[in-house]
Amino acid sequence: MIEKQASCQDPSESGTLDFEQALQRVLDNVSAIKARRNVTIREAFNGVAADDVRSPMDVPPFINSAMDGYAISSTDIPADGETRLKVIGKSFAGRPYPGKLQSGESIRIMTGAVVPDGADTVLMQEHVEVDGDHIRIDGTHKPGQNVRKPGDDFHAGDTIIQAGEHLSPAKLGLLASVGVTQLDVVRTPNVAFFSTGDELKSVGTSLQPGDIYDSNRYILYGMLQQMGVNCIDMGVVPDDRDRIEATLREAAACADLIITSGGASVGEADYIKQILDDIGQVNFWKIAMKPGKPLAFGHIDNTVFFGLPGNPVSAMATFYQFVQPCIKRLRGETPQAVLKLHARAAGKFKKRPGRLDFQRGIVVMDEDGQLAVSSTGMQGSHMLSSMARANCFIVLPKDAGDIEAGEQVEIQLFNDLI
Ligand code: AMP
Ligand code: MG
Repeated sequence: MIEKQASCQDPSESGTLDFEQALQRVLDNVSAIKARRNVTIREAFNGVAADDVRSPMDVPPFINSAMDGYAISSTDIPADGETRLKVIGKSFAGRPYPGKLQSGESIRIMTGAVVPDGADTVLMQEHVEVDGDHIRIDGTHKPGQNVRKPGDDFHAGDTIIQAGEHLSPAKLGLLASVGVTQLDVVRTPNVAFFSTGDELKSVGTSLQPGDIYDSNRYILYGMLQQMGVNCIDMGVVPDDRDRIEATLREAAACADLIITSGGASVGEADYIKQILDDIGQVNFWKIAMKPGKPLAFGHIDNTVFFGLPGNPVSAMATFYQFVQPCIKRLRGETPQAVLKLHARAAGKFKKRPGRLDFQRGIVVMDEDGQLAVSSTGMQGSHMLSSMARANCFIVLPKDAGDIEAGEQVEIQLFNDLI
């Protein structure tokens, strides 16, 4: 009888880490880049703030109108009946009325314009009647309405950005709104990546029998660009131990993080783990997750290393779950809990107990306003079309078997990395 060795289809193979343990090991073994750069707010986009930023001013900086209408003093609102107020001038955005309002007077005012001295209330133009150079108002108006007070968003001295915050478009706008031109960000990580495999050809070249096009390098390029890191594309390296080792050494000399794909398994041409053992340290290389069981993680000198599986869907899933948090940690980003939602299984999901499964799903809101998730179909880890159509992972617990239609499952919505 043939004695079978452990394989990636076995539910529990020795040395295989649970997903959570593996993620914790990544987080525990990657530290934030210390170096920082002073950059313009545009250059800071998609980076991470190195320091807290305090506002030098109140926002809004002055009392201004939230509506197009008429600025008045609330003391002129009649208790009952109507009253007439003279329109004595205009305050437009950027062109304030220079004078002071007296009782019985009003000012034509536009949204964002300074509410003049003597006024504290703005009446919507739809709520007054214009009568020559006067307006007629009744007693239905509330004192202080339609006015934005100085500092009602935040005050001078308030922290508007915290160290470790990712700088999104809204954050750039926030910085600009208080006149900040430059800030310190954590130095952008340099990420080197290459594909390994004798069968891989770059697009633009012709395929020989047995060849396929390299898709992972283009996937990694896109995911890394979305994360705003510096990409160092080292091409395709054949399944040649010496050449892979030489490329890894070259990458380690210039990068904070190296990502390879392929050759991470136990086939005869799978050198990644062996080389990492020789020239660096392997922290783990097997995880009880599907897709993506052979995932090598470790260091070469001070450079963090991930050896992703070759199958493109596995490479994407492991990047999403492990490399993404690793890059955030390298950039000193404050960790955010992954948002997980529940959805009703719109069909049956096949699953064997033993590994945490990240199936590709399409989630929609059904007629009852509940989330319903369906499978993208065949779940082979070489099937990129299913990843390209999906909008979420369906996260099925390690010990679960098949899921029946109607059961509640956990989903993780894709962010813009996929
Ligand atoms: P490996 O991890 O090298 O054993 O590869 C597993 C599977 O993924 C094989 O079918 C490879 O041909 C395929 N593969 C590996 N690297 C890539 C790549 N860069 N692009 C597309 N397919 C790949
Ligand atoms: Mg290979």
